[in-house]
Amino acid sequence: MSTRAFPHVDFPLHTQLYIDGFWCAGETGRRLPVVNPSTEETIVEVEAGGAADVDCAVQAATRAFHTWKDATGVERAAYLRAIARGVEARGAQLAALQSLNNGKPLAEAQIDVSDVVATFDYYAGLAERTDVDGEAEVAIPSGDYQALIRREPAGVVALIVPWNFPMVTTAWKLAPALAAGCTVVLKPSEVTPLPELELASIIAEAGLPRGVFNVVTGTGPEVGAPLAAHPLVAKVSFTGSTAVGEQVMKTAAQTIKGVSLELGGKSSIIVFADADLDLAVDLAAGGAFFNAGQMCSATSRVLVERPLAEALIARLADRATRIVVGDPFASGVQMGPLTSRAQYERVQRFIANGKADGAHLVIEGEVPSGPGYFVKPTMFVDVSADSAVWREEIFGPVLCVRSFDTEDEAIATANDTDFGLVASVVTRDAARGKRVADALEAGVVWINAPQLIFPQTSWGGYKRSSVGRELGPFGLAAFQEIKQVLTATGPGAALSADGGA
Ligand code: NAD
Repeated sequence: MSTRAFPHVDFPLHTQLYIDGFWCAGETGRRLPVVNPSTEETIVEVEAGGAADVDCAVQAATRAFHTWKDATGVERAAYLRAIARGVEARGAQLAALQSLNNGKPLAEAQIDVSDVVATFDYYAGLAERTDVDGEAEVAIPSGDYQALIRREPAGVVALIVPWNFPMVTTAWKLAPALAAGCTVVLKPSEVTPLPELELASIIAEAGLPRGVFNVVTGTGPEVGAPLAAHPLVAKVSFTGSTAVGEQVMKTAAQTIKGVSLELGGKSSIIVFADADLDLAVDLAAGGAFFNAGQMCSATSRVLVERPLAEALIARLADRATRIVVGDPFASGVQMGPLTSRAQYERVQRFIANGKADGAHLVIEGEVPSGPGYFVKPTMFVDVSADSAVWREEIFGPVLCVRSFDTEDEAIATANDTDFGLVASVVTRDAARGKRVADALEAGVVWINAPQLIFPQTSWGGYKRSSVGRELGPFGLAAFQEIKQVLTATGPGAALSADGGA
């Protein structure tokens, strides 16, 4: 634990690994600096775990699985609810850590805390239902057999998460994994481990049996890769970049383990000429600049029907220019810094590329003087459909606009991407909204709605954005195995047997 105090974080910070119910040092003997993106100062150093720590955590999770898998759904639900209440009680600390470590404004960090609470409460309900619907008889065309389908926990699961919504991406995996009866080894992003370590201490206080939940901090190659490769891990649930997701899938393939992947995006918001202009401006600005644009679901491509283009561009530019960028703890600040130097440099490269490619820069993401990875909102129009700023995930406050003339053209342009995570449609014509939603190759479509995500629904996308789905019953199913039990019950059973597949 570190006791160094920051103005808004005056409580001790956890910095160690959490394995088999104990906080401990890593085997490498090294530590990693965790940086405050607003000041570029080191907040604290955390353990740089290694392959031996991963093995220790997986062994602990394997031992714990033997009993945790047999806990009833009601028992597991009680732990999930205890975690939700712990997160509520320590919400102020968790939000402050999100702002300190990730750089998001405090108001956005508080939304993350509420999301985590709602997710644990929702999966507590589903955990209880596993006692009822975890085993179901299936109607078959034979009176001589009884067929049961059981849902069983997958085993020890590896959860690997990124830095943009640290606690939220963790909760979307951890709550269903525990609800299903799996035991867990979590690897937070090396950029933002502090909210997860605080969450780990809340989980420890909730009294989960030893080894059910473990955290190993460290880098991707030193912790994530051996975790994805470990033969005792049954399933890897990964959120992060498409490039690393591909590596995780290859690694998991070597031991034929299941993967769920939540990867990148390059999503569109389609604004028709009949749209409510105020609403369109709100939705386009929110879709591009929330969390400084560091969202897999960023609708950073704005497609606007030509008659509305001039008005929308003018209003959006005005809105973007007035966004208050600064210290995430200061009141009135709407956008903090980017979360890391690497991300800051990546976004600068994209802005330079956009200019070099001849896109018209309406407002420039000027960089405020002084320390911190701050980039102000940036907006390009007349962007070529084959330029990097239009095609690649930037993951920063950079919005690109193109105009269209027909509905078919808008749909084709929105679908012209390797990704397929989300899309937004803004129109007063309900029939058109439905038609366009039907045609979009995206896992989530919002019609005249902000990017709300309820845990009861679903999360994930088409094409290279995802493998599988999180949230809703799909999130639970991702951590379950299916077992069929067929029992001979009638006199004709042996005679009607006709062999296996
Ligand atoms: P990243 O892929 O660099 O890292 C994600 C995690 O993987 C980190 O914990 C990292 O340490 C680990 N990792 C790195 N190399 C690894 C390896 N070889 N084996 C195993 N693990 C390894 O991603 P990032 O920069 O942390 O996050 C940004 C990306 O995440 C963006 O592309 C964004 O779109 C994506 N994202 C997707 C969703 C979604 O729901 N689809 C949500 C949030 C973020």
